[in-house]
Amino acid sequence: MPANILTINGREYHRPVRPTVAITIDGCQPDYLDDALARGLMPRLQAMLRNGGSYRRGRGHMPSLTNTNNLSIVTGAPPVVHGIPGNHYLAPSSEEVQLVDPSFLRAPTIYARMQRAGVRVLCITAKDKLRRLLADGDVPSISAELAHQLSLPAFDVDDVVQLVGRKNPGPYEWDLSHYALEIGLAVTRERGHLDLLYVSLTDFVQHKEPPGGTMADRFYRHLDELLGAYLDLGYVVGITADHGMHAKQNPDGSPRVHYLEDVLERAGIRDFHVVLPITDPYVVHHGALGSFAWVYLPDRYRERAREVLAALDGVEEVFFREESAVIYEHPIDRIGDLSVAADARTALGKSRAKHDLSLVASGLRSHGGRHEQIVPVIVSHPLAPRYAAWLDRGVQNSDLHDLLLNGIVASTSVRPGVESVPRSERRAEQNDR
Ligand SMILES: [Zn+2]
Repeated sequence: MPANILTINGREYHRPVRPTVAITIDGCQPDYLDDALARGLMPRLQAMLRNGGSYRRGRGHMPSLTNTNNLSIVTGAPPVVHGIPGNHYLAPSSEEVQLVDPSFLRAPTIYARMQRAGVRVLCITAKDKLRRLLADGDVPSISAELAHQLSLPAFDVDDVVQLVGRKNPGPYEWDLSHYALEIGLAVTRERGHLDLLYVSLTDFVQHKEPPGGTMADRFYRHLDELLGAYLDLGYVVGITADHGMHAKQNPDGSPRVHYLEDVLERAGIRDFHVVLPITDPYVVHHGALGSFAWVYLPDRYRERAREVLAALDGVEEVFFREESAVIYEHPIDRIGDLSVAADARTALGKSRAKHDLSLVASGLRSHGGRHEQIVPVIVSHPLAPRYAAWLDRGVQNSDLHDLLLNGIVASTSVRPGVESVPRSERRAEQNDR
C-alpha cells in the first residue's frame, strides 16, 4: 500500500494534501440550510455551491443522536464497529452510564490513525461531552465549553481564550458553536494550518428554534461568516450533521410523549428497565426526551411488550435486540432487549414523573428516530466524477472523510497512479489496528 494511503476501519484514506476541515453542525435538519440559502442568509455557502461545491441530503446512523453519529463520522464506521450506540446506555453492572469515556471505543478514529502517521490533526467540540472520545489515541482536542480550563499543549497554547480573543460562551448560549469554529481559526492563524481538523458544534439553537427563528437566523448567518473564514484560509471544507431535528408537540404546543414505563405498567408487564439513549448532561436542550428508547425486560415479556409498544400511535419501529443489531448496525451487547423508534412528531420518555417538562416549556424539539436521520452532506470543492455520482446516489454522514480525503479532484490529480474508487466499489481491507 502506498505510504500516502492509510487503511482505517476497513476503508482507505489518502493523507490530506490540502488543509481540510470536517464540520458537524449538531442538529442541522437540512431545512435550516435550505431556508437560510433561500433567504440569502448564507452568501458564502451559496457562492461555494455555485463554484463547484456540492450539497446533497444524506443519511446519519440510528439512533439519530449526537455521540453515536459523531463517532460514526470520525471513525467512518457504523456503531457496531465503534461501539457507541447512544449518548447513554445500560452498563453490564445494570447502571445507566454516559458513553463519554474513550474506553468504550472499539475502533480508532481517523484522526488518531492520521496523527500516528504524522498528520497534523486537531479535534474541537462545542460540548465537552465529546471531548474525551475525540481525544482517543492522543489526538489534540479541546471543547469550547471548557476552553477557559483547558490548554492545547500540542500547539503550545496555554490560554485558549486569549488565543481566540473573547470569553467562551456557556452551553446554553447561541454562539458556543461559533466559538468552537473560532478556536480552529485562531490556531490556524497563530500556529499554521492543520492538515485535518474536526469541529463539532452544539444543537442548543436547533432544539430551541425552527428554521426562520430569530436565534436560528443569527446562528446560520454567523456560521456562514466563519465558513467564509475557513475558505479564505485555504481549507477544503466538508459539512454534515449528526442528526436532524423536529418539533415533538401536540397541536396545543405541549410535548407529545409516550411514557414507556407507564405504558408497560398498564399492560401488566413487570421487571422492565427503560433506557433513553439521548440522555446527556444538557437537559435544557431536550429534557431527555427523544424519539428512541431501549427496553430491558425478562424474555417472557418480550412478545407482549413489542405488541403493546408497536400499537402506540407514533411508534414506527420496535425491534428485538438481535434484529436491531442487524438493522441499525448496533453492538449487540450495548443495546436493550427491545429498540423502539418514534416518528417525527413523537417523543419517548420513561414515566411522566421522571421528566421535568418545565425544561422544555417553550416547546419540545428533539431527535433520535428515523426522521432525524436525514442530514446535509456538503463538500466545498469539485468531486471526481465517481465520487460526485456516489454523492448523488446517497451517502452517509460517516462517508464525509472519504469524500474529503479521496474524492476531491485536486487531491486525486496531485496523486497520480493512485486509483480513486468509492468505498462501495472497493474491497474492504482488514483493519490494521
Ligand atoms: Zn446532536
